[in-house]
Amino acid sequence: MENLPAKTNFIREIIDADNASGKFGGRVHTRFPPEPNGYLHIGHATSIIMNSGLARDYKGKFNLRFDDTNPAKEEQEYVDSIIEDVKWLGGDFEDRLFFASDYFQQMYDWAMELVKKGKAYVCDLNADEMRAYRGSPSEPGRNSPFRDRTPAENAGLFERMKNGEFPDGSRTLRAKIDMAHPNINMRDPAMYRIIHTSHHRQGDKWCIYPMYDWAHGLEDSIEQITHSICTLEFADHRPLYDWFIDSLGIYHPQQIEFARRTISNMVTSKRKLLELVKDKHVEGWDDPRMPTVCGLRRRGYTASALRAFCDDAGISKVPGISDIWVLENALRNELNKSAPRAMAVLKPVKVVLTNYPEGQVEEMTCNNNPEDPAAGTRKVPFSRELYIEQDDFKEVPPKKFFRMTPGQEVRLRAAYIVKCEGVKKDAAGNITEVHCTYDPATKGGDAPDGRKIKGTIHWVSAKHAVPARVRLYDALFTKRNPDDLEEGHDFKENMNPNSLEAIERAMLEPSLKDAAPGSRWQFERLGYFFADPKESQPGTPVFNRTVTLKDTWAKIEQKA
Ligand code: ATP
Ligand code: MG
Repeated sequence: MENLPAKTNFIREIIDADNASGKFGGRVHTRFPPEPNGYLHIGHATSIIMNSGLARDYKGKFNLRFDDTNPAKEEQEYVDSIIEDVKWLGGDFEDRLFFASDYFQQMYDWAMELVKKGKAYVCDLNADEMRAYRGSPSEPGRNSPFRDRTPAENAGLFERMKNGEFPDGSRTLRAKIDMAHPNINMRDPAMYRIIHTSHHRQGDKWCIYPMYDWAHGLEDSIEQITHSICTLEFADHRPLYDWFIDSLGIYHPQQIEFARRTISNMVTSKRKLLELVKDKHVEGWDDPRMPTVCGLRRRGYTASALRAFCDDAGISKVPGISDIWVLENALRNELNKSAPRAMAVLKPVKVVLTNYPEGQVEEMTCNNNPEDPAAGTRKVPFSRELYIEQDDFKEVPPKKFFRMTPGQEVRLRAAYIVKCEGVKKDAAGNITEVHCTYDPATKGGDAPDGRKIKGTIHWVSAKHAVPARVRLYDALFTKRNPDDLEEGHDFKENMNPNSLEAIERAMLEPSLKDAAPGSRWQFERLGYFFADPKESQPGTPVFNRTVTLKDTWAKIEQKA
């Protein structure tokens, strides 16, 4: 991993101040605490990159901890994918992979301690009644009729809850704080509920499960986290975490809130992403159009480009939308330096060089990467019949069309200057061949007499061409903020109907035939492409376009 000096931000300033005051003895210990109920997305990636980056830069530690306190929604598939994604992003948790469910006994013991101190009670109100008693932001709540049970009675009931004597939803354990507190989170929040459901790691050992607000701060405390970084919606929960931790008198991490990362033309909510997958709007969690970490990976994103993006976009206390082109630019900048060049024709039309000897093949020398002198050159075969892009030929050219058109010279990249002499059409009037002559004195592409040739186009020798499937992607959502909806509308209405263009028979230069699955290339003039790690195989390559060569967002009219 690169060790560029990290830009400072308000979180680093807090850590610097804590280190200066000796608050945590100079220790920095962060964590990423996902709930294993979905695949990670670009927002989570931000959190992983930030938390693990802080640990790295301050020579501290970073934990991966599954917040698996809800038995109903969690699956091993999600656990596995999250571990893979965190590692891929460079989140180095070493041997510190934890599961909150392993702390259930400790949490229970602490809850019992609060019960015995008179700070928690068993309540028999059902969910609806609890809601009614809670009041509203403008009105205080009312005390539960069960609030004044004695500690001894509560201890007995809580133990019986744990032992499975009561049905789901019949009782809760609640903190005894203040039903008139201006912060609703402090109005005797539930700590435990009864759920007779097996847990993915604990099996049937437990039938009471801790609420997120009770569990989360304890998990951080148990792991001796110093800076517990979370998104803004938890700011109002911080007083409650503090109350729990201080009531128990246990180690106290510092919570810091920052604004969620939101990116234009994407949705980043697990629920919505799950809906796209379940209802088959996309091909799966790792569909290259998805903002999931596995989707971005399959699109051809690199972890280093995502880190560069996070560094560039920074961390904020104020919610806002980052532009998708900033993300794409981070990738372009990297691939421009690292991706070898190759020629591919996505929508081919055949060109015949009528004065080129039949059967002759020349090897043209092409630069592998002008940005990287060490990348060297390669030989690309050239012959009488070639493919060029349909778009690079116009029988009737618009103004300032410098590519191939009758009577005009154009350069074939690294090969020859050619001139179009006419076309051959089928009975329906479709162009089947473009006929050109080549100038044998221009091998390599330059005219010895110095005449100016304005256009240069790419090509592939027809008889050497490798047919391949290529997929072009556009944003999954046309609207800048797909979640900005009027009453009664659904975010899926903002989906882009043209987000995928599948090309069945593109023509590639022969060097791409055995492209390693997972390799990245620049197809000249077309963009950066990724040999699909699942479907591509040496001999039968399949490519995904990761990103176009230039930023096209400026040209796209976006619905506000
Ligand atoms: P979602 O809202 O999509 O369901 P979540 O926040 O419930 O996501 P968790 O598994 O609880 O998902 O998130 C794990 C961590 O990732 C949390 O610490 C959370 O603050 C952080 N996180 C989630 N979404 C974002 C985001 N968009 N930007 C930055 N951090 C995020
Ligand atoms: Mg969450």
